[in-house]
Amino acid sequence: MEFVNVNQFDNLEMSYICDFSGGYVSRNYKLFSQIELTDLNRFIMEKSVFGTPIFKMGDGGTNLLIISGIHGNELPPQIANLRLMNELIERDLSNTLYFIPFAAPKSTMNIERTFNSMDLNRSTHIKNSLSNLILQAALDLGVDFVGDFHSTAFNSNPGFESIFSSKSPSPESFLIANYISREVGSEVISFDFAGSTYKGAVEDVCNLKGIPAVTCEVLCPFGNVADGSAEKSLSQMKSFLDYFGF
Ligand SMILES: [Zn+2]
Repeated sequence: MEFVNVNQFDNLEMSYICDFSGGYVSRNYKLFSQIELTDLNRFIMEKSVFGTPIFKMGDGGTNLLIISGIHGNELPPQIANLRLMNELIERDLSNTLYFIPFAAPKSTMNIERTFNSMDLNRSTHIKNSLSNLILQAALDLGVDFVGDFHSTAFNSNPGFESIFSSKSPSPESFLIANYISREVGSEVISFDFAGSTYKGAVEDVCNLKGIPAVTCEVLCPFGNVADGSAEKSLSQMKSFLDYFGF
């Protein structure tokens, strides 16, 4: 996977996961109205028209991947990921950070949970599905840990602010979840073995492949941005990074 320097930003490189998932995320008004129009955010939205971009900041240390938009209708984490990138692009980093702010820009544009009728958080084990391509990229890049950020509506599953993790075969998943829970208060949901309840979650398949991962959920209606939900998602992301010594 080839990354290229982005000329307008000193500390940013980018590549594409694939070129068949692009969309105009600005058409998602609820999302767009929460995005500050910085040069970086405009750049990310422009690049998302042509596929799923992946961005890189920093070099050396631990390789971390922060994903949002696996479900296009879950808006707070996608907004939070952009805010995080805008904060970190100003900083000297001791680790290597990869960001996928819009996993499926087309789904974000259309405010859809699925991508081409496929639930990306149930299809990571399916060869060459969009989420499988993200997994392949993580393996190619030597990503050490993955945080996958979602939102959940009241009366859906899980329906409360939480962090999914598992104890086997990647026990660090459980430790990271407990750390974030202690820092931001989200409830830990833990399984003894990754992927034992349902198949194909990004987090589970990463854990099964030896990349410890967590799924962080904030409470928010689908297709909407509840007061404080993007801020809470951002707190979860920062806590995930804090675990590795930021
Ligand atoms: Zn989700």
